[in-house]
Amino acid sequence: MPSPEKFRETLDAFNISPDIIEEMYIGFDGLVSKTNKKIKSAFFCQALNVMNEKLPAEKVQEIFEANACCKSGARKKASEEIARIQANKSIEEKLSLISSRPYLNMGSAELDENGYLLVHAVSYHPGDKFECACPTVSKVKRDYVIPREYCYCCGGHFKYHYEIMFGVKLKLIEIVSSPHDTDGEQPCQFRYQIQ
Ligand SMILES: [Zn+2]
Ligand SMILES: [Zn+2]
Repeated sequence: MPSPEKFRETLDAFNISPDIIEEMYIGFDGLVSKTNKKIKSAFFCQALNVMNEKLPAEKVQEIFEANACCKSGARKKASEEIARIQANKSIEEKLSLISSRPYLNMGSAELDENGYLLVHAVSYHPGDKFECACPTVSKVKRDYVIPREYCYCCGGHFKYHYEIMFGVKLKLIEIVSSPHDTDGEQPCQFRYQIQ
């Protein structure tokens, strides 16, 4: 989630009805990017719970993917650079190059037995638990569980960058695992279909 401002715009862009939006925002007036992380995290949890209850699953996924964070700036430059370096390489060669460069913050990826792209997001593991790759909710002390669908934000981030690096279109098929619904036992991982 890059910003509460963009998130709010996306809800209009996807024609979410005003009564659903109102329910998502109960108790959270005037959220902006600079709002304390603890409050933003609590808001996105509440908003997502309402969305899961009131909206079709594909819509929830689309909205969170559309709000994926960290797409521009240095990250995008790095992805474009990788795309240039590896323009003539096979997908296997590209995968090993990305995995061997942890400073890219692109985690690692492999092709599964069906030819789908399996991405292991860069994983934060500060103690004995995994944290979600999303900076908006990671490392926040909380006594509630954010639904796993939150990781469509992370999934959208990696989709964006791997599409640039590989020069292909990807479709996010599933969140393979998430720290949110596993009490930090597993990292954010995603499966994509290469289009
Ligand atoms: Zn995020
Ligand atoms: Zn995540």
